[in-house]
Amino acid sequence: MSMQKPHSILISGAGVAGTTLALALARHPTMNPKPIITLIERSPVPRTTGQAIDIRGPGVKVIRKLGIEEKIRAKHTTETGITFLGRGGQQIARFDTTGDADNQSFSTSEFEVLRGELVQLLMEETEEARKKSGTEVKTVYGELIESLNDEKDGVTVNFANGKLESQKFDAVIATDGTGSRTRSMIFPEHKSLDCVKPLGFYIAYFTVPRLEHDTDLWQWYHAAGGLAIHMRPHRNKKTMGVYLSIVLPSKVQSPEIEAVIAKGVDAQKEMLRDRFKNAGWQIDRVLKEMDTTEDFYFQQSALVVTPKWASGRCAILGDAAFAAMGVGTSNAMIGAYMISGELANVKSNDAGEIAAALARYESGLRPLAGKNQMPPPGFPQLANPQTEWGIGVFHAVAKTVALTRLDKLLMKFGEPSEDAWKLPEYGF
Ligand SMILES: Cc1cc2nc3c(=O)[nH]c(=O)nc-3n(C[C@H](O)[C@H](O)[C@H](O)COP(=O)(O)OP(=O)(O)OC[C@H]3O[C@@H](n4cnc5c(N)ncnc54)[C@H](O)[C@@H]3O)c2cc1C
Repeated sequence: MSMQKPHSILISGAGVAGTTLALALARHPTMNPKPIITLIERSPVPRTTGQAIDIRGPGVKVIRKLGIEEKIRAKHTTETGITFLGRGGQQIARFDTTGDADNQSFSTSEFEVLRGELVQLLMEETEEARKKSGTEVKTVYGELIESLNDEKDGVTVNFANGKLESQKFDAVIATDGTGSRTRSMIFPEHKSLDCVKPLGFYIAYFTVPRLEHDTDLWQWYHAAGGLAIHMRPHRNKKTMGVYLSIVLPSKVQSPEIEAVIAKGVDAQKEMLRDRFKNAGWQIDRVLKEMDTTEDFYFQQSALVVTPKWASGRCAILGDAAFAAMGVGTSNAMIGAYMISGELANVKSNDAGEIAAALARYESGLRPLAGKNQMPPPGFPQLANPQTEWGIGVFHAVAKTVALTRLDKLLMKFGEPSEDAWKLPEYGF
């Protein structure tokens, strides 16, 4: 009887999707022999920045299975709900968190954590699982895939920066985010397909020092021109997360903003200073702090819709495959859990069996992640009006919803029901 060789798995991109996959593979209870994991990240240092992201629905079950629920809970940002503010900074409507992990409010989740802290935790847990289980996990920063070739006996991968030798892997999973380069290497036909679907939505995230009058609510202040200033608490009580968002009247890309993104951070800050200078509320403070903040990040917030997630020994996962509004992090973690479970069920290195496992990940997850990708009707345009009149209408609606608690009813309809989609069991 021939002994099965361990699966050698390359994960490309150390964001939430990539690090969750590394952890799920390293911690899988029935994966035998233990896999050999190589995790590469384009950035030369770990990218442990980013503001609040949340985990919802079946994503909560995944963190329970991976044994990190309590550790994530302990990193909660301490946000207590959301408040919409009027022109003078006065409260218009407020929605508090429910305090129930399985029945969360639409704004603040029971698992609202800073992206950087989540990635850091996932890396620490992977290290612990590596030591405990003896799984080989090699993490290489400042490296990316130059080319790949899916062959019968493995995927031959060439690396761009020479930190890794060209080598063969049993499976390659691309987790390199919305702008994934690897996506079109796995699916050459995607080059001609426009996978990135604009929402007309641009957003800058950064950290500023907390002042005495800051609160633990997510404060959302609108200004004409589709602009918004958001301030959200951090657990440390010393800093706050700031978001400056620009929403266009329709779901298109702005050639002007795209050109600014290409020019880099200085040009992005200049553009924000210009657009927001008369926005009101705390804009003077925010723009002053933006000059010196250390974690400024500006991006187009878009959907990624791809016709295929798995091909042969390769697959795409997370934003690279199905970036969504509000559920991207949860779906990335659910997909990572499923890939680990499907690969654990494959007891050989056979190309057909590995391809079938990755195809099962796709067919299993599509009904969830392919379905709940679309933002609520009218979002982000209706929620970010262009005119003062539109802001007034939005505030009137928010007030009515808050008074009648219609948000609770809407959340019940929005959540996938237990029967509609069930998280598969893989022995965790
Ligand atoms: C620095 C940063 C800050 C963010 N901040 C927020 C935030 O505040 N709020 C929010 O809602 N969402 C934020 N996001 C997006 C959010 O993390 C994702 O939408 C979601 O968590 C799904 O994660 P992902 O791992 O699929 O993608 P990402 O989190 O985008 O991770 C992709 C990773 O792949 C790396 N990468 C890119 N190209 C390559 C390549 N060619 N080869 C190897 N590695 C590559 C990137 O550096 C990144 O580490 C941020 C993303 C990043 C990268």
